[in-house]
Amino acid sequence: MRAQPKASHFIDGDYVEDTDGTVIESIYPATGEVIAKLHAATPAIVEKAIASAKRAQKEWASWSPMARGRVLKKAADIMRERNRALSELETLDTGKPIQETIVADPTSGADSFEFFGGIAPTALNGSQIPLGGDWAYTKRVPLGVVVGIGAWNYPQQIACWKGAPALAAGNAMVFKPSEVTPLGALKIAEILIEAGLPKGAYNVIQGDRDTGPLLVSHPDVAKVSLTGSVPTGRKVAGAAAGLLKHVTMELGGKSPLIVFDDADVESAISGAMLANFYSTGQVCSNGTRVFVHKGIKGQFLTRLKERTEAILIGDPQDETTQMGPLVSWAQREKVLGYIAKGKAEGATLVTGGGIPNNVSGEGYFVQPTVFADVTDEMTIAREEIFGPVMCVLDFDDEAEVIARANASEFGLAGGVFTADITRAHRVVDELEAGTLWINTYNLCPVEIPFGGSKQSGFGRENSAAALEHYTELKTVYVGMGKCEAPY
Ligand code: NAD
Repeated sequence: MRAQPKASHFIDGDYVEDTDGTVIESIYPATGEVIAKLHAATPAIVEKAIASAKRAQKEWASWSPMARGRVLKKAADIMRERNRALSELETLDTGKPIQETIVADPTSGADSFEFFGGIAPTALNGSQIPLGGDWAYTKRVPLGVVVGIGAWNYPQQIACWKGAPALAAGNAMVFKPSEVTPLGALKIAEILIEAGLPKGAYNVIQGDRDTGPLLVSHPDVAKVSLTGSVPTGRKVAGAAAGLLKHVTMELGGKSPLIVFDDADVESAISGAMLANFYSTGQVCSNGTRVFVHKGIKGQFLTRLKERTEAILIGDPQDETTQMGPLVSWAQREKVLGYIAKGKAEGATLVTGGGIPNNVSGEGYFVQPTVFADVTDEMTIAREEIFGPVMCVLDFDDEAEVIARANASEFGLAGGVFTADITRAHRVVDELEAGTLWINTYNLCPVEIPFGGSKQSGFGRENSAAALEHYTELKTVYVGMGKCEAPY
């Protein structure tokens, strides 16, 4: 098996195995080949990982933020040096084309370590509060042992986006990748140790929906940061709330992308394609409801069809491939099911809608698909598909399109393409979402906060704001005189 790690888990600075755990097969989505066999964590492994993190956290938190930052920046350097190997592994784990992983996956993880390593010495300051003689001060302190639970679409990036702010703030993390993509996070853990992280401060354990709850309900865990679907978010947030733990929820979406008739149409089509086809459409913030002004609908659809049909689908390890398969057989069944519903409910199929005929074998490929004449009540306009399926809806009027864009339980992201700068800001102001783009889409550099509102979650990843979600304030009142009491 060509991607078999030394063992399933990485705890206390080393690989650890427990073959009593249920078998997790890692499958290369382009061929269906089993590339590694791992084991889900048993309760004993969960205990070991949390106990080791608890021990390491005390030491790690005692380091100066500058010293912690140096380790994270070293990890960023190592990730960049190994970008090719890490990207190849990410391609095997997810099926995403190497053309993407080489620029978007380990590199964004490295950015995260570099950014949080860089701000650690300045962004964790407290304040001093004068009280007229007496005074007080605040300290921003780590939460302790925190748990990260990942989705399968950006496994290495998620492992870093959660790990970097958590570690910068002096926490220890136990990270559980998705059972669908178990491999990349192990390499991140290895690199952190190589960069000088104390053993145990970042542990990785494998597992699925039965393992996650063991972490969430553990009494020594102070916080859970989940990237996953809304139904999982409800379960995890509910379990954490019962135990009064901190949570960050990065969940699903059905984000609107609005194209006005004054927009640069070619640029708007680029935005819409990025917002639906990158990572084979498996991006949480995707703008999957593309509202196009009726005045440019014909022009928009003609060019969109031409450009979509020119996308090169195939072997993800080939540098020229632009779109790979979906992550799993189950995901392909789900996406094909939504395509069938779109057809049955009367949407117009502009292009795609099936399995591409240029790829052979057992891979989980689906054609990039565009539906037009989609209406708000259709299933494909309401539910998250998480595949390369773009829904184009028509609109006439600004107020109408804002109301329709907001008529969703989700609120992760959104975008607007227009040449009118005032309208751009007015519209994003009205859209109910955590992250919005004007005249571009899906760019998430580490410097800017990322996260959702409504059912898409709460808390923020990236930017200095993420540190607030991995720390709490400790307040110290300093009495300068004698302590007075009325008795
Ligand atoms: P999922 O909800 O099925 O699983 C996510 C993770 O939660 C996995 O690691 C899984 O093992 C774990 N899990 C499942 N049940 C659990 C439970 N009861 N307790 C604890 N852990 C549990 O999601 P997925 O299919 O892996 O990923 C796709 C979803 O993730 C999509 O909805 C997508 O929009 C969302 N997503 C969101 C973001 C974001 O930042 N907002 C980013 C990527 C993906």
